[in-house]
Amino acid sequence: MSTRTSKAPKANGRIDVLDPQDGSLVESIPRYDAKGMQSAIDQADAALPRARRMPVHERMRVLYDAADYVDRHRGEFAETLSREGVKTINEARAEVARTVMTLRLSAEETRRIVGNTIAFDQRPGSENRFGYSRRIPVGLIGAITPFNDPLNLVAHKVGPAIAGGNAVIVKPHEATPLSAIKLLEAFHAAGVEEGIFQVIPGYGADAGDALVVDERVRMISFTGGRETGEKIMQRAGLKKFGMELGSNSPTIVMNDADLEQAIPAIIGGAVAAAGQNCLHVQRLLLHESIYETARDQFVESMGRIRYGDKYSEDMDMGPMIDPQAAERVDNSVQKALRDGARLLTGGQRQGNFYAPTVLEAVPDNHPMVKEEIFGPVTSLHAFRDEDEAIAIANNVDYGLHAGVFTSDVDAAFRVADALECGGVMINDSSDYRLDAAPFGGVKGSGIGREGVGYVLNEMTEPKVYCFNIRFPKGWT
Ligand code: NAD
Repeated sequence: MSTRTSKAPKANGRIDVLDPQDGSLVESIPRYDAKGMQSAIDQADAALPRARRMPVHERMRVLYDAADYVDRHRGEFAETLSREGVKTINEARAEVARTVMTLRLSAEETRRIVGNTIAFDQRPGSENRFGYSRRIPVGLIGAITPFNDPLNLVAHKVGPAIAGGNAVIVKPHEATPLSAIKLLEAFHAAGVEEGIFQVIPGYGADAGDALVVDERVRMISFTGGRETGEKIMQRAGLKKFGMELGSNSPTIVMNDADLEQAIPAIIGGAVAAAGQNCLHVQRLLLHESIYETARDQFVESMGRIRYGDKYSEDMDMGPMIDPQAAERVDNSVQKALRDGARLLTGGQRQGNFYAPTVLEAVPDNHPMVKEEIFGPVTSLHAFRDEDEAIAIANNVDYGLHAGVFTSDVDAAFRVADALECGGVMINDSSDYRLDAAPFGGVKGSGIGREGVGYVLNEMTEPKVYCFNIRFPKGWT
């Protein structure tokens, strides 16, 4: 599955991919362990010189062709993504469309990987030196991906890796490997050379760990939970890291906000992927003068969210990834209620589904607000003024995105400037992202930036070429 030759890494056992909504078997696929991963690394290592030498026009062609393939087969891609994952069919279609854009952006950015000329003559004695820098590939990139966006987040690593002249091995999440395998199919159809891009499904503790610790892997590009990210950094040794981790994003609604614009956007950000989304609106901060009006509108809209059969086009929200995740969210909600929070809507689990849930009066510093819930639960908080909103928003050890709704451009600027995070969406919820923009967090939300043009800086390195020119005597 991972490559097309007889030297392909050997599987050891199988992974049963289950439909999260009812536990039915979607597909049983080969599972690779540490040994399988090591042979994939052998193949990638052997392919590196070819990846490096691929001319820019060829990298662009492969990426455009892979994008076209995904686009032509978008119905199948959406079906795979929805079946193995937590997204409704409508959400899955939107992710496929974004994947096409991510791959096309990667193709376009390939021609913009440029260095610069260097003024060597700034140092006395260096007058005869001339030179430039050129960006060279990092080498072999290990990409480890989560379950919640199992296609586009893989494309965000594979597209730029190939654009930059690297080889890449993807270790997809064990619950959702099928979308990554389908993406590999697109690259095979586009004629990517063997070994340059492989997908090795397996578990984090064996296949994932083998990728992390191998010295031939020069960069780990990880998207997933903070705890896993920290473990990987402790294990990896001397490598580059891209760490896209979790958050508990705030969205702030000021007293002059347009609630007709704000509430639907916030609802979208509160229930997308059933809250299993790093940009999920976990904390909703409402100015005290509009608290009750905004709260009532928000609670009423959350209560109307249709959740259930994810293949129905009428559903707004799908299931949690597995029973343990549904139980974890329920336990967190029940703990918050025991500790004094009030339930405004939701709070029920039905199988793997969790009802869109709104809480208020959650005690300060409670895990419900300090940690990442990763489920469709939002807590409400009243604030008196800008300073208090900023203090509440920043009082966590995460910082990915934030949203601010206001009609006052000066206030928007001040608040956006003071929020500790990687991106502030004005008059949008925290859950807005453009695949071409820099994306990443501060504090516990990660290290480095994705976003196609930006991650290319991480996946390439400047190499300096300096010419010490001999001029003949009398040269002018
Ligand atoms: P996870 O950390 O459980 O798993 C992510 C990946 O890491 C999986 O492929 C898993 O197999 C692998 N893994 C686990 N242990 C490993 C180990 N010891 N060595 C190597 N690999 C290992 O995360 P998840 O549950 O799939 O995703 C949820 C988390 O991801 C949330 O915290 C969410 O906020 C975050 N996330 C972040 C972004 C972002 O761009 N910042 C995007 C999506 C999800």
